[in-house]
Amino acid sequence: MDSSALFSMQDLPNGVLYTVPGVISELKKYKDPRLKYWDEFIEVKEPSQEFIDTIEKASASSGDDLRLSPVDKSVLALAIETESTVLTDDYSIQNLAKILKISFRGVGMKEIDEVINWTYKCTGCRKEWDKNYPDCPICGSPLKSVRSRKR
Ligand SMILES: [Zn+2]
Repeated sequence: MDSSALFSMQDLPNGVLYTVPGVISELKKYKDPRLKYWDEFIEVKEPSQEFIDTIEKASASSGDDLRLSPVDKSVLALAIETESTVLTDDYSIQNLAKILKISFRGVGMKEIDEVINWTYKCTGCRKEWDKNYPDCPICGSPLKSVRSRKR
């Protein structure tokens, strides 16, 4: 489960639910009163480095890298390690799960049904780049990530 799944708490499956320490810290930051009940049915576990590495590589090549926090990545890494289904409403997490063939489920929202490719579009000259540069190599304006139109 990522934090979006924990926040919505709807429709959670029975059985062991895992999350990473980072998600728990995020929730503690918001002082969510439900936190004390979650202890009973959530197992908090840090994924092994080899699975983090797998996620790092995959997210760099899919373009999801910038949209995923280290916590998001560890949620995915833990899902591979524990062979669990990822519960998340975050589209970038779902996207990478899809690419890596990790099963996932939306909690409050509908899941994505196709892989999204991200490209970087210049806010000045509108050129699209496959890579995220600090600024546009042509005109120097900032780039923003957009869904690729390529299929
Ligand atoms: Zn430009």
